[in-house]
Amino acid sequence: MSLARLIQIQSDIRVCRDCPAMVGRPVHGSAILSPIYLLGQAPGPREESFGRPFAYTAGRTLFRWFEETSGVSEDDFRARVYMAAVARCFPGKGKSGDRVPNREEIENCRRHILRETQVLKPKLLLPVGKLALCEVLGARHFPASAKLVDVIGKSFQIDFHGQHVDVIPLPHPSGLSAWHKTEPGKTLLKRALGKIVDHPVWREFME
Ligand code: SF4
Repeated sequence: MSLARLIQIQSDIRVCRDCPAMVGRPVHGSAILSPIYLLGQAPGPREESFGRPFAYTAGRTLFRWFEETSGVSEDDFRARVYMAAVARCFPGKGKSGDRVPNREEIENCRRHILRETQVLKPKLLLPVGKLALCEVLGARHFPASAKLVDVIGKSFQIDFHGQHVDVIPLPHPSGLSAWHKTEPGKTLLKRALGKIVDHPVWREFME
């Protein structure tokens, strides 16, 4: 029943054309009934052709983080973690790197997140990058003045679309960002990954 609903939600996402400025078509991960929900920013230019999120260089970095920390391969990760994004379409290029989805696009796409979380009822939520952090933590835990150092390496208990979830934020693995390669980012990233793989939901579902 739940799987059928999730498949229907993904089918609805695939035909969504609500944001005229988006360059790419919607991309989503596999329909997995997982208690672990990863929320990225938006697909890059290559993800649509691969037909899955985090399919290129940022994904390679993200999956390497988890492989090195817990031994979970990319295939296992994709098979067990539900992978979503704040916006499901490639926004096109901005002044430096990919364009950040605008407020209207974020609001349009939020209904997909809402429907997914109603079905999945996640227990562990992993926002990746600032946009996803804003979407999940909101102004209370991640105000406009906050920086990644304020939240990476910490965990939060919040209500997210009616679900009580543990949130462990991650920085964006983009090659354009040096944050996770230099201190204090390196140490805080390691701390965050350690918290994820020590989390009871991760241990129960991934090991
Ligand atoms: S970004 Fe989201 S709401 Fe906008 S067209 Fe793509 S799937 Fe639809």
